[in-house]
Amino acid sequence: MLTNEKIKDFAKKSGADLVGIANIERFDKAPPELHPRTIFPETRSVIVLGCRILRGSFRGVKEWTEWSSYWIFGYGAGIYGVLDEATDMTRKFIESYGYEAVDVPGIATLPEAGPLRPPVSPDRYPPNISISFRLAAAAAGLGELGYSKVFLTPEFGPRQRFAIILTDARLEPDPIFRGELCTRCMRCVRECPAGAISKDKTISVEIEGRIFEWADLDYGKCKLTHWGFNRNASPFVKKDLPGLNLDISKQNMSWKEAYDFGWTLANRVKYISLVSKGISEIEQSGRPGSICGARGCIQACFDQLEKTGVIPKFYTPFIV
Ligand code: SF4
Repeated sequence: MLTNEKIKDFAKKSGADLVGIANIERFDKAPPELHPRTIFPETRSVIVLGCRILRGSFRGVKEWTEWSSYWIFGYGAGIYGVLDEATDMTRKFIESYGYEAVDVPGIATLPEAGPLRPPVSPDRYPPNISISFRLAAAAAGLGELGYSKVFLTPEFGPRQRFAIILTDARLEPDPIFRGELCTRCMRCVRECPAGAISKDKTISVEIEGRIFEWADLDYGKCKLTHWGFNRNASPFVKKDLPGLNLDISKQNMSWKEAYDFGWTLANRVKYISLVSKGISEIEQSGRPGSICGARGCIQACFDQLEKTGVIPKFYTPFIV
């Protein structure tokens, strides 16, 4: 018989660091465009796998010495190679028991981008459906959303990425995480170079009696900074495009406008496209990479959680 324990044991042996399972009832309040059953109507369980982002992948960006390792190992093939392998192996494991295992590609999980295409017929939702990976991880009991909206786990704080499997197998769900990891220290707000995290406006969602609350975010400012167009977080724009001096605090681009802006300018700012070269031969020109390195929302956060003993410490503090 296929059980919760068997799936978790197999997924961890296949490379996942974290695995949690939610029943579909925990998504009852999700709108159809974010609901797993819009993709797979027979979904009974939602399995979330996580792989840690290694702390060392942030070091080069933190020291302003080496930018590609976070992008490659914390964002791209380095981490998703392992996560995708673990997810694929686990799907095969589930299907060997006669249940279907549907994956949810991460590219579809950018609700800020809006639908990628109009619906193919009037009775369908536009492709692709965006299941929130963070809310799925919350529903699967893996931790909570921090004030920054980055997902926090007791094992790694804000350092992990997720994959989702939908299955028609009825599995024992993991309990919702009832502890508190986010200390509301507000370092994410203060240290975000984009000023993208609101200090007082919040959004909340309730799952099985637990409220998950996080700050309202300005995704346009976040994306412009993430891709290195904020001089406070990137030394490259001022060197390669000295005439471009965006005051990020005054920008009101949407996430999609900032995303398109990044792609348009990446060819002109050599280092911004250079950091992503390790990802794929095909993508060797004009692709923006992560220059900011999540300075407030991830780096400041895990430094804080380590120093306050919420997550395990390392021998060397991240920020001395
Ligand atoms: S830095 Fe982390 S712990 Fe502090 S408020 Fe932000 S999310 Fe919470």
